[in-house]
Amino acid sequence: MVATEFSIISRYFSSLGRGEAVELGVGDDCAILRLGNDQRLATSMDTLVAGVHFPDDAFPEDIGYRAVAVAASDLAAMGASPLGITVALTLPEADEFWLTTFSEGLARAVSEYKLPLIGGDTTKGPLSITVQVFGSLPSKLALLRSGAVAGDKLYVSGTLGDAAGGLAFIQEKWRPQPEHADYMLNRFYRPTARLQLGKSLLDQATAAIDISDGLLADAGHIAAASGVRLDIQSARIPLSEALKSHPDETQARQWALCGGDDYELCFTLPPNLPTPAGCTCIGEVYAGEGVDCDLLVDTASGYRHF
Ligand code: ADP
Ligand code: MG
Repeated sequence: MVATEFSIISRYFSSLGRGEAVELGVGDDCAILRLGNDQRLATSMDTLVAGVHFPDDAFPEDIGYRAVAVAASDLAAMGASPLGITVALTLPEADEFWLTTFSEGLARAVSEYKLPLIGGDTTKGPLSITVQVFGSLPSKLALLRSGAVAGDKLYVSGTLGDAAGGLAFIQEKWRPQPEHADYMLNRFYRPTARLQLGKSLLDQATAAIDISDGLLADAGHIAAASGVRLDIQSARIPLSEALKSHPDETQARQWALCGGDDYELCFTLPPNLPTPAGCTCIGEVYAGEGVDCDLLVDTASGYRHF
């Protein structure tokens, strides 16, 4: 059998997480630790590797910003409030220009997301950045992947496919019209963690995840954790003006369904609730399993590390 990121985690690591303070271990966007009677800590870690998660020649300021935003997005997906981050940095060399601009990107994200940098680790080796985020949750509420029920409606925030389109632009696979060029680059290099939205969904959403691996793949995690079937209508998936201007509409929709790195939230709400600002209903929740979509897309959806 081919090993996947998830089969590796479940085979070797997920059984090691039992403990008195562990309210939620491996398998969601963050783990939750109980600290006292009504105090809970949400935490998660994300690594960005040069040449895998960003191009080798990416501008260091973008790398710094993106590393924090990507990690903060998992707090958003839990509805957690930001507390702080630690950063583990592995560097091939101590280049002053690189470190200065990288730290400027970090500084910007740290201030924007109110995530003070409280520690970390610095080592020599191939370039990689790991950010661990810490957030707080109220005593009873959290957005989990596991609460969707038949009858709920499925939503996403923002627009999808932009980061994949931005990456394709960076890789010179297409060239957006000049007025859309900066927007496309920013959607890949400067994703927005939807912390406010996540918090506002705490007492409303039945399930939530952030879209890091592509809508179909991440919606699949909600379906699996909740034990439901999600039906997505591709025509309802929100696309940016920039992506709509792509000459090949099928390619644009493919990016919106399968492209990773958008860091928008995907969540389910009971049918009686209004659509939150900046969000779009893209489908419904049914009894069953998996994710159905009227648009047939290529093979395995989402990014695979192994
Ligand atoms: P996300 O896309 O939200 O960052 P991942 O897909 O990276 O989440 O990880 C899925 C789940 O597996 C998360 O709960 C994460 O904490 C856990 N996980 C990933 N790698 C490991 C590991 N090496 N050991 C233990 N848990 C892990
Ligand atoms: Mg996540």
